[in-house]
Amino acid sequence: MQGDIVPIGEARIGVTDWGLTHADCVYDVVPVWNGAFFRLSDYLARFETSLSAARMDVGMDRESMVAALQRMVATSGLRRAYVAMVGARGTPLIHGTRDPRACANHFYAWCVPYVHVIAPDIAEAGASVWVSDTTRRIPEDSVNPRAKNYHWGDFTAGLFEAKDRGFETVLLCDHSGHVTEGPGFNVFALKEQTLVTPDRNVLHGITRQTVIEMAQTAGLVVEERALRVEEVFDADEVMLSSSGGGVSPVTRLNDRVFGNGAPGPVSKDLRARYFELMEEPAYRTEILYGPADP
Ligand SMILES: *Cc1c(COP(=O)(O)O)cnc(C)c1O
Repeated sequence: MQGDIVPIGEARIGVTDWGLTHADCVYDVVPVWNGAFFRLSDYLARFETSLSAARMDVGMDRESMVAALQRMVATSGLRRAYVAMVGARGTPLIHGTRDPRACANHFYAWCVPYVHVIAPDIAEAGASVWVSDTTRRIPEDSVNPRAKNYHWGDFTAGLFEAKDRGFETVLLCDHSGHVTEGPGFNVFALKEQTLVTPDRNVLHGITRQTVIEMAQTAGLVVEERALRVEEVFDADEVMLSSSGGGVSPVTRLNDRVFGNGAPGPVSKDLRARYFELMEEPAYRTEILYGPADP
């Protein structure tokens, strides 16, 4: 925070910051796995794209962001971490103005122990997902989903629907009957040897990209295109992808059960490959922990 490293419970932003009053933040989350950032340059490139899309200037270049993240994670001592970086609109320098150009944009970052969006035991057994037919994903011409952002009203409403019905999480559709994504994850549907993932109305997840690459290496055909909700219910396998836990097989969508309730072979294989890939030196940026750290 402003160049200082503080315990997470002491990190503060102001109540007049548009980051808070208008959910006017873009952010990114890079995983740290066994002492190294995974695909760090890909996450930073996306974060820079999100900042420009939101027309924010936090006055930092790539090198200073890397240095800030390195120092923060090293100080935390965490070997497996959820590392968030945020660009916030800030507080207007002119009292009461509605001019977004008058805000002092700022950068902050925080890290906590690694987060699994789907708890590992549930991901291993296969997750249950509610496909909402009432809450729609915010249209991409209203809030740009390719800039990772804090506008979570749709996801939170969807999560309440899912939890009310006993499902683990939710998948939202757009207004024309295509599936989009869920709270912090992308979705894939496998039919025979073809793996399809939506290209519109979604964040282009780094894990989504990793899954695409792993699937192509494994000889599957991958299609990035509009995915109709009926196709997902009709798929052989459905899986979710997120930096919080990699690939999670889905065994239930509403009242449709996949694979007699057990994760499918392709989902299981991609899940295992993802954790293997996180150990590959080519994708890793080692954290420079101080000598005092274990
Ligand atoms: C972060 C996020 C994802 C997943 O992206 P990864 O880069 O794979 O973690 C998907 N959808 C939304 C809305 C997200 O916020």
